[in-house]
Amino acid sequence: MNNKVLIIGSGIAGLSAALRLAKRGYQVEIVEKNSKAGGRLNQLKKDGFTFDLGPSFFSMTYEFEEFARDCNIEMPFRFIELDPLYSVHFNGNPKTYRLYKDIHKLAEQFKEEEPDFEAKMEKYLKKCAQLFDDTVDVVIKSNFDSIFDYLMHLIKVNPAHLPVLFRNFYQQVELHFSSKEVRQILSLVAFFLGRTPFDTMAIYTLLSHTEFRHNGYYNVEGGMYAIVEGLLRELKKENVQINYNTEIISYKENKGKLEHFIDNRGQSWKADLFLVNGDAAVFRGKVLDRKQFSTKKLDKMSWTMGYLTFYLGVKTKLPQVDHHNYYLGSNFEDYARKVQQDPGTLQKPYYYVNVVSKYNRECAPEGCESLFFVCPVPNLLQKPDWSDKDRIVDSIIEDFSGRIGQDIKPDIVSKTVFTPSDWEKQFHLHRGTGLGLSHKMLQIGAFRPSNVDEKFKNVFYAGASTVPGAGLPMGIISSKLAVERMLNFKAE
Ligand SMILES: Cc1cc2nc3c(=O)[nH]c(=O)nc-3n(C[C@H](O)[C@H](O)[C@H](O)COP(=O)(O)OP(=O)(O)OC[C@H]3O[C@@H](n4cnc5c(N)ncnc54)[C@H](O)[C@@H]3O)c2cc1C
Repeated sequence: MNNKVLIIGSGIAGLSAALRLAKRGYQVEIVEKNSKAGGRLNQLKKDGFTFDLGPSFFSMTYEFEEFARDCNIEMPFRFIELDPLYSVHFNGNPKTYRLYKDIHKLAEQFKEEEPDFEAKMEKYLKKCAQLFDDTVDVVIKSNFDSIFDYLMHLIKVNPAHLPVLFRNFYQQVELHFSSKEVRQILSLVAFFLGRTPFDTMAIYTLLSHTEFRHNGYYNVEGGMYAIVEGLLRELKKENVQINYNTEIISYKENKGKLEHFIDNRGQSWKADLFLVNGDAAVFRGKVLDRKQFSTKKLDKMSWTMGYLTFYLGVKTKLPQVDHHNYYLGSNFEDYARKVQQDPGTLQKPYYYVNVVSKYNRECAPEGCESLFFVCPVPNLLQKPDWSDKDRIVDSIIEDFSGRIGQDIKPDIVSKTVFTPSDWEKQFHLHRGTGLGLSHKMLQIGAFRPSNVDEKFKNVFYAGASTVPGAGLPMGIISSKLAVERMLNFKAE
């Protein structure tokens, strides 16, 4: 047995792969460039406040349950179901739209805007469910050995879905609903894939099925970092060591196999098998010197948007603000269409606010709240200069204060801002793109950077820019697919 595995990176995909392998008897060790585990699934503790750094909710809990079964462990953290899933506010409209999973209750929210909402929604969700059932296992949960193999799988997909391939997400929603409010709200989920509803394929309306029917959205008791803490506890029981502040920068090969990686201090890291959890495209280019992943080539690929995130501790309570909220401008369509090309549209942003202290009291001192803001913005390819970050952040705080009818500016006692430049530096994300490679047709399935290295037979990949894609549940699936490959590896 090729017993020793080195994992580069401690994101959700790296940690979950580590546990799957350790439970199968492998001797696993992890190296991580940062001083804390979790990658983008991280936590910021500052001035007595605790914030989720990136992910603030997730779907497909059954993938985590399958993972726990695979590792023969109790779930190491507790899910909290979100209902309503989130709230949406439009500029100039005093109404709060709460997105309930119960369609009858949801229809009440839209009785003025879309009078036959319930029937239309049932029809829309039926189509989304068909897309989900016919494609998810084929495209997301399988390893493909070649593009031909992938196309053979795709051929099995029901041809009734073909017209969907020629529409974008927004167009598919438009076919079912007539009001601006419903169209914009239902297409918000496209932003979770790191693009806008206008450049995300209609096939991803299957996510509406995941949101409203199949599973919903969930939080974790104690904040999202409890996922990482739970995984770390399990890894400790298996004696998996994590070496922090250790960045892999180079390698040595021997007869078609990778012999060892070399870190920033010149230390060598030997193993029989290697699993890369750092971005699969960036790592190939920057560490393995692959020409097809040079910076120039990477820039030509299609990447997700950047995120401007900021974390505010305020010494006031905000009972009028829900847990998960979207604040949309009056220029949704114009903004979504231009946000990547025209950084000037930032004056009228769309943003998300999460009040993590609402259900996790320990995240803020008595009488205070922890607020996490996320604003999708152009990545560094489109907007390399973020020296105007304070002006943009101030304008969002001003807008938020107006929307909630309470000026929070005098109550801010803690403030941290992360621009796409910070995200790039912290986690080696190409041009500060929040979710890595985008999920367009020619960058999914066998077209995505593979989870098996092209040159070194003993190097594998798990994480957002390899298969199947971005998001926490995809990270869990990615670790499963990579481990499947590693178990099949045969040394010569
Ligand atoms: C602002 C934001 C909000 C998000 N919100 C959500 C959400 O609500 N729900 C959801 O499901 N998803 C969300 N996501 C997406 C989600 O965070 C990611 O898809 C997921 O965490 C990626 O995990 P990963 O294991 O692929 O990689 P990462 O988390 O990026 O981990 C990779 C690790 O590898 C390390 N590394 C990289 N290169 C090296 C090297 N050379 N040497 C050593 N270590 C290295 C990095 O430091 C990092 O720790 C969000 C992302 C962002 C940025």
